[in-house]
Amino acid sequence: MIEIIAATGNANKVKEFKEILGPEYDIKSLKDIGLAIDVVEDADTFYGNALIKAKAISEATGKIALADDSGLIVDALGGAPGVYSARYGGEDGNDILNRAKLLKEMEGVENRSARFHASIVLYYPDGKIIHTEGNTEGRILFEETGNNGFGYDCLFYSLDLEESFGTADSQAKNAVSHRGRALEALVKKLNQR
Ligand code: IMP
Repeated sequence: MIEIIAATGNANKVKEFKEILGPEYDIKSLKDIGLAIDVVEDADTFYGNALIKAKAISEATGKIALADDSGLIVDALGGAPGVYSARYGGEDGNDILNRAKLLKEMEGVENRSARFHASIVLYYPDGKIIHTEGNTEGRILFEETGNNGFGYDCLFYSLDLEESFGTADSQAKNAVSHRGRALEALVKKLNQR
């Protein structure tokens, strides 16, 4: 089993890392290892922020760290909320405020096309980096639909699943999601080594 520290305070992401990567990987959260560290994500790209997080946690623990920087890209909003997805509504990590702002910005907007993006970095104590990305296409719904998932899931109609990520079960979401695809690519790269 490969021990990996998940470089995130987001319990939903840790849950998806575990579900997607399966029992071959021993994913530990920052909480599991008792590490409270506030990493400033000040890059202007998903990759840049994922690298900052993975590097900081690997350096702090001396272990392999896995970071995901992800977000929602809405065409009619010029790509917003993008790298600012977690704090779109004003407060970092407040999903309710974020969704309310998105619905407001999309009022009366016809073009609802959007995608989730995930940039994944696996950072080794010797400085080696593995980077992968994943995307998933959809439409912004007119109202919240379903209670599953987290973040913007209940406002995202998946073109692959033909339903909201808010009504899809976690297995269905993980099979087509940005994070699922980025992690699948990561496993492929790890298996090639
Ligand atoms: P990060 O922690 O800076 O990468 O913030 C990612 C933000 O993007 C989250 O707080 C969510 O608002 C949003 N997000 C990323 N992935 C998902 C997902 O799978 N479902 C719903 N929202 C997501």
